[in-house]
Amino acid sequence: MTTQWPRLNLAAGPVEVMPRTLRDLERPVLYHYDPAFIELFARTSDLLRQVFRTNYDVVIMQGEAILGLEAAAASVISPGDKVLNLVSGVFGKWFEDFIHKYGGETIELAVPYDDAIDPEDVRRALQANPGVKFLSVVHSETPSGTHNPVREIGQIAREFGVLTMVDTVSGLGGELLSPEEWGMDVAVAGPQKCLGGTPGLSLMSISPAAWQAMEAHKPAPLRGSFLSILDWKRTWLEERRFPYTPSVSEIYALESVLEQALEIGMERFAGRHQQIAHACREGVKALGLELWPAREEIAAACATAVKLPDGIADEALRGTMRERYGVMISPGYGELKGKLFRLGHMGPAQVHPTTLAAQLAVLERSLADIGYPVAFGAGVGAAMAVLTEWDDRTR
Ligand SMILES: *Cc1c(COP(=O)(O)O)cnc(C)c1O
Repeated sequence: MTTQWPRLNLAAGPVEVMPRTLRDLERPVLYHYDPAFIELFARTSDLLRQVFRTNYDVVIMQGEAILGLEAAAASVISPGDKVLNLVSGVFGKWFEDFIHKYGGETIELAVPYDDAIDPEDVRRALQANPGVKFLSVVHSETPSGTHNPVREIGQIAREFGVLTMVDTVSGLGGELLSPEEWGMDVAVAGPQKCLGGTPGLSLMSISPAAWQAMEAHKPAPLRGSFLSILDWKRTWLEERRFPYTPSVSEIYALESVLEQALEIGMERFAGRHQQIAHACREGVKALGLELWPAREEIAAACATAVKLPDGIADEALRGTMRERYGVMISPGYGELKGKLFRLGHMGPAQVHPTTLAAQLAVLERSLADIGYPVAFGAGVGAAMAVLTEWDDRTR
């Protein structure tokens, strides 16, 4: 017997997709040198630039965002380079493996995984380590439901002439960012998080200084590799060619979600994420549950991480939600496994009062099913009570 599919994917990415995205995704597969595809790829790149709110070059690498993150490390870090790696969660710690793989020397600035990096600590670390060339940071730590003050951190890095590599995979769209203003040299995002698209691509914004660092890579610039960002510069950016066949259908879906985000407008798009995240936190607290992030100001827009109450097992809660009611949410990941669960709210299909109400209502029902005392409606009510700004008509 095959497992029943869920009614709602309210996990922390990949997320539920809008019907319009699915419709656009199923267009006929074009030959990648068909003029219609070249045009579509160019338009998609232009839309991506608008979503990133940047005048920097953007590159769409043809693999899940981990490709973009590894490509960033492989392309800029030369053996012996010192990299200040900021760690406030699972993905931040994970990046250290890439730094070491490409010969970098890590200087780590870490905080507990329920906290965020203090920009003044970054300043002190850069003062104490004059040879640092690069800084790596995760904007939105999806596994912890926290976010780092990347804008302040990027501006400090710039003061020290340090280039930044920013994992904003679940940050783009959830917060109104700007690579230029925020000092993001290589920024990597994914379509399957706040943009509400399908997984399979790395969306990157590259500053002129980052291109220079790639050209200066020792012993030679990284070229002729699936990990090479310079290959995309040489082919697509300079000659409107591809280094290999792009993921044609994924580009259709990307074009669609970028259009949808821009129709709403990036400010409102990010604002909606903030509103739903806020309402979700109010709902969770009203149920007597505790948020995982140490302070509410550092809670992420992409997902709400909630401490598992004493005596409630992760598998029992998520299993009940999924099996009895068809609602998929996310567990703790890596070393956070068994400590928390996560309610996703990313992209137009998840980020809506209707889905939030369903998510919290099923959470209430499932908690009661497994013996946690629930005042029915308390979570949903508290969430809806603060959603005073929402209006589907505002575009
Ligand atoms: C989703 C995500 C990635 C991509 O990782 P996957 O495990 O392949 O989904 C990277 N960084 C962050 C912060 C993410 O949220």
